[in-house]
Amino acid sequence: MPLQIVHHPDYDASFAVNHRFPMSKYPLLMEALSARGLAGPEALSMPRPAPASWLKLAHAASYVDQVLACEVPEKIEREIGFPVGPRVSLRAQLATGGTVLAARLALLNGIACNTAGGSHHARRAQGAGFCTFNDVAVASLVLLAEAAARNILIVDLDVHQGDGTADILGDERRVFTFSMHGDRNYPARKIASDLDVALPDGTGDAAYLERLGGILPELTARAPWDIVFYNAGVDVHADDRLGRLSLSNEGLRARDDMVIRHFRALRIPVCGVIGGGYSTDVAALAARHAILFEVASGFA
Ligand SMILES: [Zn+2]
Repeated sequence: MPLQIVHHPDYDASFAVNHRFPMSKYPLLMEALSARGLAGPEALSMPRPAPASWLKLAHAASYVDQVLACEVPEKIEREIGFPVGPRVSLRAQLATGGTVLAARLALLNGIACNTAGGSHHARRAQGAGFCTFNDVAVASLVLLAEAAARNILIVDLDVHQGDGTADILGDERRVFTFSMHGDRNYPARKIASDLDVALPDGTGDAAYLERLGGILPELTARAPWDIVFYNAGVDVHADDRLGRLSLSNEGLRARDDMVIRHFRALRIPVCGVIGGGYSTDVAALAARHAILFEVASGFA
């Protein structure tokens, strides 16, 4: 069985090529996965848009209604970083449906990945920081509501702190939120996760991997996890426009391998989402995101 990959062509909302958010990374990631032989028909599943009932488990009903109607107040659109028109609204619903589907496939097969997701700055009340809906928080709450999981671990290694996830799940004792991120990165005002590790600028591969390797056993000791959501943001890379942690491609690969190997050795299902990545060289960026899928395919 090949690695199960969840994808939808409408993850790409077709922004202008010079937009601060590199939207073209979604089709380019699929090209990269095809070139690596990972995107055959038996590997791919297509999500449906997440219904409002799922979205409202994690977000204020009024905000969900605003996004679905494309009537998000301008002040919130500015915090998100783009206007929420029909394409962006559909994209947010599909990416969230995609993470729910990838989680279900991970529970069935041990591991699965979404080619979008990791929108961890979206808080209960509203979106922010290029994030409209918090797909991982929604998926966690859907699995809990359906009794498909009882204990959920979120390992968020995007370079930015997972403030929205912490905001939504702060009172949810069945979900443990872990964020390891650059101390000086967005958001300026962080919302405490269950465990936060803030790293200094220029941390680099060796120190990063040593820190992570020390933490993973602590995380597994906390509860009998039914599933791990892994946000594999590549904005930790040295060439990322927004990151400050100076990881190399080899460091990214070692990181993804360390996380997935750790949990799969314990037979804990892993649902991977791509998280952030910002670069004007979008082909190089897509290749960075492809590393998660290359590594994950070794555990499928
Ligand atoms: Zn990020």
